[in-house]
Amino acid sequence: MVQTKKKDIRALTKDQLRDFFLSQGDKAFRGNQVYEWLWQKSAHSFDAMTNISKQTRQQLEDNFVINHIKVDQMQRSKDGTIKNAVRLHDDLIVESVLIPTKTRTTACVSSQVGCSLDCKFCATARLKRMRNLNPDEIYDQVVAIDNESRLYFDRPLSNIVFMGMGEPLMNYNNVLKAIDKITSSEGLGMSPKRITVSTSGVPKMIRKMADEEVKFKLAVSLHSAIDNIRTSIMPFNANFTLTDLRASLEYWYSKTKSRITYEYVVWKGINDTRKDVDALVDFCKFAPSKVNLIEYNPIDDGAFQQASNTAIDMYVDTLERNGIVVTVRRSRGKDIDAACGQLANKS
Ligand code: SAH
Repeated sequence: MVQTKKKDIRALTKDQLRDFFLSQGDKAFRGNQVYEWLWQKSAHSFDAMTNISKQTRQQLEDNFVINHIKVDQMQRSKDGTIKNAVRLHDDLIVESVLIPTKTRTTACVSSQVGCSLDCKFCATARLKRMRNLNPDEIYDQVVAIDNESRLYFDRPLSNIVFMGMGEPLMNYNNVLKAIDKITSSEGLGMSPKRITVSTSGVPKMIRKMADEEVKFKLAVSLHSAIDNIRTSIMPFNANFTLTDLRASLEYWYSKTKSRITYEYVVWKGINDTRKDVDALVDFCKFAPSKVNLIEYNPIDDGAFQQASNTAIDMYVDTLERNGIVVTVRRSRGKDIDAACGQLANKS
């Protein structure tokens, strides 16, 4: 007998689930119950669905699987940061991070296995992009971190950033579906204002997001506002130039009126001059902006080095004088390779 591959039940919408039960001569309402188990209650097995009859659970078992992620390894940094190595149903691994502060717990989640972009300073770029994550795989990372936050910090997860592995806008549909579930009252019920999608800048998708009037926040990993410099450290910039990127961001702002955050590392000899900071001011002054100056997390032999404090101070002063909000971000979880740009499935 040919064994047909069972479908992942969480690929079904609620309506499709209701239709399945109707087609089995059951009540559509059963679909609602199962849907609640799958999302709101994050059931890992059909047997966990205790208000569903044994016969119906068997019926589900015969037709579907629940492809749940598994946290294979959890590492804790001395600063409290937690890194999860997450095993997917096909045994590929991604990483996600819980970053605690006094008042918040932030989940940093992955959107792809590996990354197709080629940023020279990022460890994830060295992993080949294997595939996109499904909406449920993104959702599960958030649930796992929410559970850890409750367990270790006595509070629910407060914020989510799509700053793990991968480029979220190159897995646009699945990232949006996951956010729908995360924000829905039938999922985790989180406010979209607490979610930030970070992109290295894909103009076409930024426009699409603007058209769809999404409610989450946008961050752009800029690192340089001068084309030839940006292309030398983020080679895909040759195709998505700063002119296109900026036009798409102006469009985003005109539609959403939502402040844009820029992530920016200042490196010695790369972008640490007056000309660099002036270009940055010029690039972002069209809309309310915030610049996060991120500490560099070395990933290799020293081709990139964190700029001097003098250079950082010059950035902070100049940005502030021009009315741009600026924060200097210390790295978290460096000792367990959980900081920005360090996610590379090392262990
Ligand atoms: N692809 C998306 C999501 C990844 S976010 C994006 O580029 O925005 C990861 C963030 O860490 C990005 O801002 C990235 O530029 C930054 N980063 C990458 N490598 C880094 C490193 N070695 N040190 C500090 N930040 C790094």
